[in-house]
Amino acid sequence: MIDYHIHTNLCGHATGKMEQYVEKAIEIGLQEIGFSDHLPFVDFERPGFAMKRSQLPLYVQEVEELREKYSNITIRLGIEVDYFPHLENEIAELLSQYPFDYVYGSVHFLEDWAFDSPYAFPQWNLADVDGVYEQYIELLHQAAQTGLFDIMAHCDLVKIHGFRPARDMHSQWESLVKCFQENELATEINTAGLRKPVGEIYPSEEILELIKKYEIPIVFGSDAHRPQDVGRDFDQAMNLALKFDITSIARFSGRKRIESYLI
Ligand SMILES: [Zn+2]
Ligand SMILES: [Zn+2]
Repeated sequence: MIDYHIHTNLCGHATGKMEQYVEKAIEIGLQEIGFSDHLPFVDFERPGFAMKRSQLPLYVQEVEELREKYSNITIRLGIEVDYFPHLENEIAELLSQYPFDYVYGSVHFLEDWAFDSPYAFPQWNLADVDGVYEQYIELLHQAAQTGLFDIMAHCDLVKIHGFRPARDMHSQWESLVKCFQENELATEINTAGLRKPVGEIYPSEEILELIKKYEIPIVFGSDAHRPQDVGRDFDQAMNLALKFDITSIARFSGRKRIESYLI
């Protein structure tokens, strides 16, 4: 299998050397992985959320060195980008400077609120949950239309802390997944949710059904922030994909999609 969502200690909230992530991947028999650490913020640095801009060349260089060193596994250079609508040009400019294989688009912030942070509970308790979901989906929608990204990450991350909307959101999710199709985006089955209060994979079965309906190719991601989480719970991710008959897998090289199939 392939794990495209792997972080590094450069981001300030992950542990372990990059080499240890590769070794773990080899140990569990993955054929291909991609690092996708958080892109430095383009407006101001947020220590603990992403590497500094000055560290980005080191990240790229280290992936290239690991690629040389480990010829028995394919290693891709990816990146995960926090989407902020007012910073699209700056993000595009920074992305254009490096030879990424793929770019993940993510929404972890609603304006300045890091809603997925373990410290976000007090605000969640006060929030209009339906409104938060709507705002989140709308931002992803906007992100999907920018052309900046290849893969939309953990597309229902908003459920992370287990707060659920009172209203039915099916039509919003459907229009989002349709938007992925229109913009030729892949999305991911991400197992990190199993390790979060929500206790389930991203995205939900409701969304997986839409992914099948609109034939969105997927990648698998562990969102590992420590070496032992590489490829974690991929048996469950695979079973979910098969349950919904999702067999179209996206792989990437130099930001070109390579169509592959699960079986
Ligand atoms: Zn992270
Ligand atoms: Zn991530």
